[in-house]
Amino acid sequence: MKAYERLLRYTSFNTMSDSSSSTCPSTKPQTEFAHFLADELCALGVKASVDEYGYVYGHIPSNIEHSAPKVGFIAHLDTASDAPSDNVRPRIINDYDGQVITLDDGQLLSPEEFPVLKDYVGCDLIVTDGRTLLGADDKAGIAEIVTMAEYLTSHPEFKHGDIAIAFTPDEEIGRGTKHFDLQAFGADFAYTVDGGAFGQVEYENFNAASATVSITGRAIHPGSAKDKMINAISVAVELDAMLPYDARPQNTEMYEGFYHPTSIVGTVESAALKYILRDHDAEELEKKKAAVVRAASRLNEKYGGQIVSVRISDGYRNMADIVSRRPEILQLARRAVEAVGGTPVSEPIRGGTDGATLSYMGLPCPNLGTGSHNHHGRLEFACVQEMDKCSAMLLAIAGLAAEQNS
Ligand SMILES: [Zn+2]
Repeated sequence: MKAYERLLRYTSFNTMSDSSSSTCPSTKPQTEFAHFLADELCALGVKASVDEYGYVYGHIPSNIEHSAPKVGFIAHLDTASDAPSDNVRPRIINDYDGQVITLDDGQLLSPEEFPVLKDYVGCDLIVTDGRTLLGADDKAGIAEIVTMAEYLTSHPEFKHGDIAIAFTPDEEIGRGTKHFDLQAFGADFAYTVDGGAFGQVEYENFNAASATVSITGRAIHPGSAKDKMINAISVAVELDAMLPYDARPQNTEMYEGFYHPTSIVGTVESAALKYILRDHDAEELEKKKAAVVRAASRLNEKYGGQIVSVRISDGYRNMADIVSRRPEILQLARRAVEAVGGTPVSEPIRGGTDGATLSYMGLPCPNLGTGSHNHHGRLEFACVQEMDKCSAMLLAIAGLAAEQNS
């Protein structure tokens, strides 16, 4: 079976995760999907099972004499909650002509807005009906891993070392690695298959922190407020204006970090502002944290009291610090991309990945492309031929790794 055929099947599971749920997986269909996948892997001859948290682990034993590195492949079961995900109705556009695609509900997917479409002229694309997301993030990744596994188990002449597979729940709500069992997985290093275009080999993500700014104002009847009132709302606006406007998500790209206000609530008496702070460079992130603290202390000086306080907490870290110490892991992926006719591309990830957390847990874990785009929205699409290349690339990684000695 081809990878895209699997993706079409998988889209029937509505696996949206839910951050308000405290269970793991956060939603029931993820468990159902996990069991479906474990059954599928077992039917292919892979030793696979689902643990109590809904993680699927699968293993394909080595068929070579010498010891080679044990390679892992990881994808996530859940889909984002940014767009509806019920009754996904994928449609295949055969032999794409490079023109604007009109989805069933009239929404447009245009090459002008999404230039990557121009790379796919002559390819077959899978789009939505415009009402839901597609869920190729990350069901395309799962489909490609399972398709690789099918090849391995049905072609015993293809030489490979130990292969580990994991499908994790709740990645989209930041819990994908919470119960990840490194021991059960058992790989020396791994790849998350959770990126965009085929050829992506990503290993640089943001360092992340968040800042909560609390402001205590002084309410006085506005008619007699002169020189007495401190309006917490105005102070919040003032503080935000003290942070560089150019360093905002809407004004930054590539390696440029940012300050991003995500919430503001307030009255005259009190206000609270929340920011996420991001930078690929750990030192630059420290400077961004310091800038928020400095803005607060300037305002405290100005208003003559401790009216602004800042609480900073650290989030995920850039996996480049870990992965760049193991260049052979990136090299392996790049050679695999080339082996199936692609050009490896490493661009900085402007976010975090589960691989970043896993890297710091001791499992170096770059991210690979899946041949799908516009994740988390109704305009999401996947390319049939790129999905084929992605599973061929995973297979090439398995083959090339077997040539190495561990
Ligand atoms: Zn994803």
